[in-house]
Amino acid sequence: MPEVFVRVAVDQPMSALFDYRYTLAAPPVVGMLVQIPFGRREVVGLICEVTHETDVPADKLRAVTSLCDGLSPMSADWIALATFAAEYYQRGLGEVALPGLPQALRDTSRWNRLLAVEPRFRLLPAGRESLPESLPARATALRRLAAVLAAQPSLGLSNARTLHPKAGATLDEWFANGWIELASPDDAPALPATFATTAGALPLPVATDEQRDAVAAISGAQGFASFLLHGVTGSGKTEVYLHALAALLVEKPDAQALVLVPEINLTPQFEAAFRARFSALAKGSIVTMHSGLAEGERARNWLAAHTGAARIVLGTRLAILASMPTLAAIVVDEEHDPAYKQQEGLRYSARDLAIYRAKQLDIPVVLGSATPSLESWWQAERGRYTRLTLTRRAVSEAALPSVRLIDLEEERRHGRASVEGLSGLLIAALKTRLERGEQSLVFLNRRGYAPILSCDACGWVAGCPRCSAYAVLHKLERALRCHYCGWEARIPKSCPDCGNIDIAPMGRGTQRVEETLAAVVPGARVLRIDADSTRRKGRAQALFSDVHAGEVDILVGTQMIAKGHDFRRVTLVGVLNADTALFSHDFRAGERLFAQLTQVSGRAGRAGLPGEVMIQTRYPRHALYQALSRQDYVGFANATLAERRDARLPPFVYQAMLRAEGRTLKAALAFLAEAAAAFAPLPGADRVTVYDAVPLTIVKVFNVHRAQLLLESGSRAALQAALRAWQPALRALRGVLRWNVEVDPLDV
Ligand code: ADP
Ligand code: ZN
Ligand code: ZN
Repeated sequence: MPEVFVRVAVDQPMSALFDYRYTLAAPPVVGMLVQIPFGRREVVGLICEVTHETDVPADKLRAVTSLCDGLSPMSADWIALATFAAEYYQRGLGEVALPGLPQALRDTSRWNRLLAVEPRFRLLPAGRESLPESLPARATALRRLAAVLAAQPSLGLSNARTLHPKAGATLDEWFANGWIELASPDDAPALPATFATTAGALPLPVATDEQRDAVAAISGAQGFASFLLHGVTGSGKTEVYLHALAALLVEKPDAQALVLVPEINLTPQFEAAFRARFSALAKGSIVTMHSGLAEGERARNWLAAHTGAARIVLGTRLAILASMPTLAAIVVDEEHDPAYKQQEGLRYSARDLAIYRAKQLDIPVVLGSATPSLESWWQAERGRYTRLTLTRRAVSEAALPSVRLIDLEEERRHGRASVEGLSGLLIAALKTRLERGEQSLVFLNRRGYAPILSCDACGWVAGCPRCSAYAVLHKLERALRCHYCGWEARIPKSCPDCGNIDIAPMGRGTQRVEETLAAVVPGARVLRIDADSTRRKGRAQALFSDVHAGEVDILVGTQMIAKGHDFRRVTLVGVLNADTALFSHDFRAGERLFAQLTQVSGRAGRAGLPGEVMIQTRYPRHALYQALSRQDYVGFANATLAERRDARLPPFVYQAMLRAEGRTLKAALAFLAEAAAAFAPLPGADRVTVYDAVPLTIVKVFNVHRAQLLLESGSRAALQAALRAWQPALRALRGVLRWNVEVDPLDV
């Protein structure tokens, strides 16, 4: 017998695989998890190769400790996806493959207990009698499956699948015939009793013509196809997803679908819509995946996806790496949302990986948005994505809200009273809504009471001692808080520098607006939703239900209230403080503002009552506001793309960012300078522009100084090749606390 070795990926910041001797009885298979000694610890790794040869000297080789043989192996497709993500985003394979696994799988002591939750089936006497005769003589795989079921007390779904690729549908049928039963009653509630889906069991509301065309295009796709579903707010994009997925799930009884949403807060709304529509599916066949799940639920849902028991996985960006052996379609809702980009560790874009995964599996992918990212819009413009358009709201009486720009300068010139930043026009409109029993929403993207607390006498401003940032005044919490590092202190009673007791808040945050609203719109029930008011688990959900239940007259909040929610009674949206984004030095700020204001405006007038949006601004003639008031995304997108093309900015060039964090700014900049010097001679570097290293806008956070170096190229391949060749040099550099490379950065 030749010796067996396995090459294993481990969660370590390096790309190499590690060789181990394999001496256990159960045969190792690529994609299985193993426990291995690593340094002085035991860790979990993923088998990426099984071989009879190794270059590692025998005395350096260690042996695999144990094999997780109860879990069916990760598929070759999944390993290929993880490998691609690792290479593209400049990380090790293990850093991609392992952190996404549920904690229970990464803890070897829990392997046995965990695997008990896989659905198991047991043959019933009726099946013992009827099953064999029902099978055609030549159906070998089916006969084998039946024989194994008859031979052992119970059979797990993943093992059943290794006997017969369509085992899910087959077991479903046998289950329906009363031939088999679920063998693990204690785990049964979360697991599918049946995977049956029948067209008759899916009552579908009548789609609009536009929705029908979109669904037909998606359902008609053969193999890989990427669709950009551009639908105005309230046009019923969700409905398109539901119809298209229903068609798919009915057609292929084993198929799985992955639906991504940008935010945890949107999963319950989606989950409810999906559960209602796919009521013929057992409870366990629709699962959610996001960071807010309890550990046990997360493991169960992950396993359900991995075994194929879950037909629909609904999740936030991390779900893009879910193991789904029969994945047949992917939906990315609100595809423009920056939340799809992970900002730490593996800095990946779930939207971009969704495209890759669909191409790899030769399946359709749908990107939906009212304001597509300019990257996606450009792909549609040049014909790479098929554009599907919903121009009208789905509910026939509901028109898009009218947008009105309130010129703050003019208000001031005419001496029209405004109170604490709320214009008289907006206040009057809020009062009218209250009288009519309709809801209003006031949006501003700044939480806390006031962004600045300062002393008029000496110019002192409250700052965070650990960051180069102001400390934000939180009146309700009676604290000064740093929004960058979490530092907190009591509000001083007088100026710490000169003793003046007249220190005053400057500017406005959600808390202050909440206070003002309560005063200027007497009798209104005002509710604030932002990161502060929803800190406790489940709190956001409770507050949103209050809004839906009509227990709120005016909802004030940050972008948390802008996204996706289908508020039925909101007829007025007021926007405060939007102007700052107009003059940002980030070239994506305008795109983001347009998307945000479109989203928040889209909350108005969704159920038939006419909606109105009032945007307070000092620059009513700015092109962005003008396009917004015409509801003209297309005009805005094409004009902005033209500017980007002229300025040689993404999506017309590809970017990467090297960021460094040092004890001093000098150390961070020196590191970047050395890194730039090491980059210059690399192959492909001549096709990459390396900019000067610069400090970040907020240069110091938690006493760490941050700087960055931008790289840019007209060729993605050249940039990728150079970045990869750069890695060894970067790893050899010293002098900073941390560094990272981000590919396709969103914040530059
Ligand atoms: P979007 O995601 O495009 O903003 P939604 O999917 O939230 O829009 O749909 C807006 C509203 O229209 C929802 O309340 C939905 O139930 C309703 N709706 C969607 N399609 C239809 C339809 N064909 N007939 C009736 N109502 C619909
Ligand atoms: Zn002072
Ligand atoms: Zn701070």
